[in-house]
Amino acid sequence: MAYRVGQGFDSHPLVEGRRLVLGGVQIGYPRGLLGHSDGDVAAHALANAILGALGEGDLGRHFPDHDPRYAGADSIGLLNEVWKGATGKGWRLVNADLTIFAQAPKLAAFLEPMRVRLAGALGADQSQVNVKASNPEGLGTLGRGEGMAAAAIVMVEKD
Ligand code: MG
Repeated sequence: MAYRVGQGFDSHPLVEGRRLVLGGVQIGYPRGLLGHSDGDVAAHALANAILGALGEGDLGRHFPDHDPRYAGADSIGLLNEVWKGATGKGWRLVNADLTIFAQAPKLAAFLEPMRVRLAGALGADQSQVNVKASNPEGLGTLGRGEGMAAAAIVMVEKD
């Protein structure tokens, strides 16, 4: 059995006039994440972690942010595309673990729906995906609510 681990990180600014989508879940909030796609930092961090495990660079290389095909893209779809590339090479998910860094809103009620959406994009059982939230307690740019960030780690295996 071969095993690989990968880590991913992403951050986007929070701005007015955008919907907030985290882990594929739309959250009612006056501001949303600014990005070429829907700005979903959790889906992007997880996709980057998968690409890292495969030794295949990063999300920007596979889905360039100047490519009009990905304008406003549903990042769960991008994550699913990345995962199809992994399964096409015989990789299976062992587990994934994510942390979202956000001062507000409170994310506790959304963590389970995010887990369902992210696991679904990977064709995985929910028990293989964990989503956590960390409050920066007012520290720095994330603590001022100027943006959100997410970190992810994954392990994959193949025969
Ligand atoms: Mg991103």
